Amino acid sequence: MVVAPSGAGKSSLVNALLRQRPDIRLSISCTTRPPRPGESDGQHYHFVTVEEFERLRDEDALLEWAEVHGNFYGTPRAGILEATQAGSDVLLEIDWQGARQVKARFPEAIGVFILPPSIEALEARLNQRGQDEPHVIARRLLAAGGEFAHAPECEYVIINQHFSAALADLDCIVSAARLRFRSQAARHAGLFSQLGIPPVSAPR
Ligand code: GDP
Ligand code: ADP
Ligand code: 5GP
Repeated sequence: MVVAPSGAGKSSLVNALLRQRPDIRLSISCTTRPPRPGESDGQHYHFVTVEEFERLRDEDALLEWAEVHGNFYGTPRAGILEATQAGSDVLLEIDWQGARQVKARFPEAIGVFILPPSIEALEARLNQRGQDEPHVIARRLLAAGGEFAHAPECEYVIINQHFSAALADLDCIVSAARLRFRSQAARHAGLFSQLGIPPVSAPR
C-alpha cells in the first residue's frame, strides 16, 4: 500500500515502479471525483456516480472505502481477489483511512508512506501538476497536515526528494517484501517441505 498526501508523488513513483516491475498488479480504485484532464475510466480510476458508489459499498463489493477531500474512494474487492489468487503482488494507492482498514483485515499488508521533502515542495508540486483548481489545491494542502500524523502507521517511509532515489527505495521495499518468510515459503513450497521447514501461523 502506498500512502501519501496529494502531490507527494505517489502516482509518479507507482507508475515508474510498474514500468520496471511489470509483474506487479495495480488496484484501480473507484472514485466519485471527476476525471482530471488525461485521466481515463478504467485506467486511472473507475469513475462512478455517488449512487453507483453507494451501491458498490452496500453490496460489500469494496475491500475498503473512505471519503477523501470531499469525494468517495474505494478499492474493488474483485480485482484484488483475482490478482492474489493468481499469485500476483497487488499495489494499492490509497489514503491512510483505507490503509488502516486493509491492515486490520490483512495484517501482512505492507504500508509505505511517501513524504515530500518539505511543505513548500508539496505546494509547488501540486501547483506544477496544474491539474486541480486552486481551491482544490488549497483544500488538499490543508488536509496534508492531518495526513502526515498517520505516517507512523506505515512500516516504511520514503522521502521523495530525488525521484530516482525514491524510486530505488520503493523498489527495495518490494524486494524485501518478496523475501519475507511467508512469501518465500509460498513461492518455494517444495523446497521448504523437503528441508522440513515448519509453516508459520502468525503474520511475519
Ligand atoms: P502521468 O504519467 O500522466 O500519470 O503523470 P505523473 O504523475 O507520473 O507525472 C506527471 C509529469 O511529471 C510527467 O511529465 C513526469 O515525467 C513528471 N515527473 C515525474 N517525476 C518527476 C521528477 O522527479 N521531476 C520532474 N521534474 N518531473 C517529474
Ligand atoms: P500524487 O499521486 O501523490 O498526488 P503525483 O505523482 O501526481 O502525486 O506528483 C505530484 C507532482 O509532483 C507531479 O507534477 C510530479 O511530476 C511531481 N513530482 C513527483 N515527484 C517529484 C520529485 N521527486 N521531484 C520533483 N517533482 C516531483
Ligand atoms: P487523487 O484524487 O489525487 O487521485 O486521490 C486523492 C486521495 O484519495 C489520495 O490520498 C489517494 O491515495 C486516495 N485514494 C485513491 N484511491 C483510493 C481508494 O481506493 N481508497 C482510499 N481509501 N483512498 C483512495
